[in-house]
Amino acid sequence: MTAYMDHKDLTNETIEPRRAAEIRDGARRVLDRIATAELEAGRPEGSVTLLAATKTRDVGEIMAAIDAGVRMVGANRPQELVAKIDGLRYCCSQRGLTVGVHDFDVEDGNDPSAMATVDSTHIPVHLIGQLQANKIGKILPYANVVESVDSLDLATKIARRAVVRGNAVGVMLEVNESGEESKSGCRPEEACDLAGAIGELDGVELTGLMTIGAHVDDETEIRRCFADLRGLRDRIAASGMTGTAGCRELSMGMSGDMELAIREGATIVRVGTAIFGPRAFI
Ligand SMILES: *Cc1c(COP(=O)(O)O)cnc(C)c1O
Repeated sequence: MTAYMDHKDLTNETIEPRRAAEIRDGARRVLDRIATAELEAGRPEGSVTLLAATKTRDVGEIMAAIDAGVRMVGANRPQELVAKIDGLRYCCSQRGLTVGVHDFDVEDGNDPSAMATVDSTHIPVHLIGQLQANKIGKILPYANVVESVDSLDLATKIARRAVVRGNAVGVMLEVNESGEESKSGCRPEEACDLAGAIGELDGVELTGLMTIGAHVDDETEIRRCFADLRGLRDRIAASGMTGTAGCRELSMGMSGDMELAIREGATIVRVGTAIFGPRAFI
């Protein structure tokens, strides 16, 4: 268990009105920033989905963001998602919303590629943090997409578990575009081959690519990483390789660099701090 989980009750559903207003304002500001960036990039309104990065935030805080219009939730740690999912499901159902994977997905055969299409009453859950193989079983009942797949080994293990469960799970290939040692993700040179191999697997649906932007001040370098990821996505989607035609999403851009990412074609931006404020825990 991560230390902050001992200090904060992540299942808490009731937050101070002032805190709720702060989060609603934050989420609305981010949605405005996205709309402006779409316009400036000459992209259609609504072509970028805001994913709320919810690490360290409790159910009440996440619901405040949802009440402001957030329609995708990102979780970093499996055990954190497990702790919060019941509360999220309950609070969402009170609002006529659904969140994460549902029993009906399992019964009807989940189609994760359809998850990307706009359904304003469903809130997909994406795992955005590193996934250890022994936690795969924990998250498959809840997560629609695992964004942090960076090896064929991990993809294969996820695929096997998903086949046993009887519903496919979306996966995105995480690419380490900046080359920073501290970052997870496959090397850009490997991405095409890996995507092809993942596309062959039953049980997973390759929905796109993900990257964490370069941790530098140089905008040119940050944009280069994002543009490179887009180039990879285009190559993969046009390759004709089995199972890669649905590789459409580009999850890139966070609080500090979402405008640059949107200019380079992001379809999902993952934002924490700009919605919820600075994290009290890391
Ligand atoms: C925390 C996190 C984000 C959001 O970061 P902010 O700078 O708080 O917006 C995005 N992606 C991943 C993988 C994260 O862990």
